[in-house]
Amino acid sequence: MPSPQRVGTLGELRAAVANGGVAHRPVKDEIRQNLMRKLRAGETLFPGIVGYDDSVVPQLVNAILSRHNFILLGLRGQAKSRILRSLQGLLDDAIPVVPGCEINDDPLSPVCSACRARVAEEGDAMPVGWLPRASRYVEKLATPDVTIADIVGDVDPIKAARGGLQLSSDLTMHYGLLPRANRGVFAINELPDLAGKIQVGLFNILQEGDVQIKGYPIRLPLDVMLVFTANPEDYTARGKIITPLKDRIGSEIRTHYPATRAIAISITSQEAWTDRQTEGVSVQVPDYIREIVEEVAFQARADKKVDKRSGVSQRMSITSLENVISNAERRALAACENLAVPRVTDVYAALPSITGKFELEYEGELKGADAVARDLVRAAVANVFNGAFEGVDSRTIVDWFDAGGALQLADTAPAAEVVKQARKVNGLLALATRVLPPGDQPAPLTASAVDFVLEGLYSMKKIARSDERGYHGADSAPGPRRGPRPAEQMFDDNMPMPGKKKYFN
Ligand SMILES: [Zn+2]
Repeated sequence: MPSPQRVGTLGELRAAVANGGVAHRPVKDEIRQNLMRKLRAGETLFPGIVGYDDSVVPQLVNAILSRHNFILLGLRGQAKSRILRSLQGLLDDAIPVVPGCEINDDPLSPVCSACRARVAEEGDAMPVGWLPRASRYVEKLATPDVTIADIVGDVDPIKAARGGLQLSSDLTMHYGLLPRANRGVFAINELPDLAGKIQVGLFNILQEGDVQIKGYPIRLPLDVMLVFTANPEDYTARGKIITPLKDRIGSEIRTHYPATRAIAISITSQEAWTDRQTEGVSVQVPDYIREIVEEVAFQARADKKVDKRSGVSQRMSITSLENVISNAERRALAACENLAVPRVTDVYAALPSITGKFELEYEGELKGADAVARDLVRAAVANVFNGAFEGVDSRTIVDWFDAGGALQLADTAPAAEVVKQARKVNGLLALATRVLPPGDQPAPLTASAVDFVLEGLYSMKKIARSDERGYHGADSAPGPRRGPRPAEQMFDDNMPMPGKKKYFN
């Protein structure tokens, strides 16, 4: 997009607009025109928005081309706010304004009395300011305590008295967020939480270009693109949105969660902080860990214990992957390893980054968030394990455990120790290495793959796991049993083992 020729005075601006050097149009036309340029050039329209190319983006483009105010309807963590913020990228680099005007008045057709007076007085010599695009996007989260003064503004009786003005003069006005967004984009998140009175104010400005404040009609013909977000159920609930305002919202666009695990992985890869190298510890995340982290969210969205109306944010996958990696770093540091490779066990350790990201139904409340989250992780592991080892025979491993074998492995067990223990189990290492790249691999990678197989078999209920005995046969009765020594005795007492497995089958 070519930068507008920077002009310094109103006279220069008039000339520049006349010869086409500076574009002059309402904000919705400006956004429309810039979008059309990007479409023609085949540019990315909404950078960082993944998985919406065939669903949300075309509808969004149509809304903008139609010069609509629009609303994004979707559950939490569906990139609604990010889409709205990205509208900034469709604004001109800068627009000419009357310097010092609180509502960014157009020097060629100012709205406020002060600017009109100034233009009349100074004429073509009046200086012109330039407002950058980043200052033209205003966002507000609606809450029930937001007032008309916050959004539209208030009249200031003291100002009126001092200036000998009528209260209905805009010179007495203390402007709210919407007028300050004049000639830009005003975004209101969670529109249904906005009081009806303020919705009426918004509607009046959209419809008539004026608004009543404390009973005084104030003329305010603003040039604003209004965009909103809402939870779909709140939005359609009767009485939450006043009908005339709803009628003035040109397009309703539904957002959604990632349609596939692959799309979800690419979103999380983009957003999560995974590229870490501190204190000589580097990080390598196996693909199956990324898959499991995403699958937890997919399982949660399908689980009847989880509230569907509020949804499960994509931020759950993002924060849990970060926490999963951190648990691997913690283990690597304790074991003096320089490669941190997350294990499935680390996904369980990441529960604190999972439990806050969904609301529970009554049945889930009874169970507790931790128990629900553990079940989700277990179901996710089973799902990914099935995909990775489809048709692969794990019988020799299961037989070893059924014959009384047991492995006690803490989630902090050093990689070498995990590999050493794994050698005891016939077929375990051979199976584990199937998910690794060919050739010799560093011990932390092999240990992670071993953990994946053990956790996979546990998630499928083919083997069991308990605090006391670690992994053991699924059919074995609780309590002391004959056969190999109990796990505690198999375990080297000198090995660091700050945290044992906490989960029961
Ligand atoms: Zn002004």
